[in-house]
Amino acid sequence: MFQKVLIANRGEIALRILRACKELGIQTVAVHSTADANAMHVRLADESVCIGPPSAKDSYLNIPSIMAAIEITGADAVHPGYGFLSENARFAKILTEHKVTFIGPSSHHIDIMGDKITAKKTAVELGIPVVPGSPDAVETEADAKRMAKEIGYPVLIKATAGGGGRGMKLANSEKDVLTAWSTARAEAAAAFGNGSVYMEKYLGKPRHIEVQILGDGQGNAVHLGVRDCSLQRRNQKVWEEAGGPTISPKERDEIGEICAVAMRKLKYAGAGTVEFLYENGKFYFIEMNTRLQVEHPVTERITGIDIVYEQIRVASGEKLSMTQDEVKFVGHAIEVRINAEDPQTFAPSPGTITFYHPAGGVGVRVDSAVYQGYKIPPYYDSLIGKLIVYGRTRDECLQRLRRAIDEFVIDGIKTTLPLFQRLIKEPDILSGNYDIHWLEKYLDDNK
Ligand code: ADP
Repeated sequence: MFQKVLIANRGEIALRILRACKELGIQTVAVHSTADANAMHVRLADESVCIGPPSAKDSYLNIPSIMAAIEITGADAVHPGYGFLSENARFAKILTEHKVTFIGPSSHHIDIMGDKITAKKTAVELGIPVVPGSPDAVETEADAKRMAKEIGYPVLIKATAGGGGRGMKLANSEKDVLTAWSTARAEAAAAFGNGSVYMEKYLGKPRHIEVQILGDGQGNAVHLGVRDCSLQRRNQKVWEEAGGPTISPKERDEIGEICAVAMRKLKYAGAGTVEFLYENGKFYFIEMNTRLQVEHPVTERITGIDIVYEQIRVASGEKLSMTQDEVKFVGHAIEVRINAEDPQTFAPSPGTITFYHPAGGVGVRVDSAVYQGYKIPPYYDSLIGKLIVYGRTRDECLQRLRRAIDEFVIDGIKTTLPLFQRLIKEPDILSGNYDIHWLEKYLDDNK
């Protein structure tokens, strides 16, 4: 097992990883920007190193600084969390070359899944169903027209290097396909330094369903069931569920097994998420994330498996601690993302938290790194906490969620809690009858 893990992240996920390390008896190193000197994970870590100024480019994304912190502290492994360097194959490779373990998959697997066209091709080879679309990048106007016609309108043009829902453009007919194609290319080039785009059939009313997988790099892999992350705003998840009743246990086990088999073939190591759109009883692969996801706690809650423990264990060379038969699903869990944002306009709301009272009680978990008096810096994403609630049934979970949201107090800044107070009264939410467009439409209709 590792002696000392360096946590190359910030916020709630840095604290989440730190907690797992402490429980496993591993020393921790926090790295932080000057803006995060007072952060909770920095205070609780055994050691901390300042790695640069506030801008993420100069700190959390600054590989030479992080390598220096590893050298100074003698850390033997790095947990990258999510975002930042978590899906940076070059970082994983540099660590390996320096004999430091990257707690995550091989740089080769990060590379394959990081390029969406290669990822889709790999999915097809592994027997995973994909969204119909262009087999390769769409590089000329003639190709764009021909491909769209072949796929059938409406089509979605997506960035090969895409992420966070950026660089996507919809074309409803031949009239707008060229504009959509060229804007998508320009946006992709600006956002990712790579203007390559591909085309997919646009699905009208799908749900976003994803499969959590775990592999040990030795050919063992399991799935931990599915999460429904259909409630999204601007392709960003807002509310996530694990457990019934959208996807039946039979469907869950079928798609889960397809993914687990694929991961066994790949000899995948660590945690990963295979993302699908689900429409009319069919699953369509859209991408795979080769890291821990923000919404992993809902899966932990219904399986009783600590995903971060497993990541650390398999990275240290141990086998997976469970077989597929040992994975049991009990009850229902929902996570809502508490962002420091105006609940109407979604404008960021950094500032000082003057009063903080998190929800508690039976079936409630709060993953957050904020505290009373904490000053939220304006430089990073606005997620400040996750409220995760469990119930034996979805109805019980919703009742408890309503109670927990009412109990949660964060003063001094604006948060998305009032949005959840509204959502939890909506009949469609209560019945679970929503697709990936539901929230956008609701927000439009209730301005
Ligand atoms: P990113 O990596 O930018 O998050 P994804 O491929 O994961 O991109 O897609 C993000 C979201 O965009 C999905 O959850 C879904 O809401 C929407 N989306 C992606 N592909 C399609 C499609 N073919 N049809 C309809 N919606 C889509």
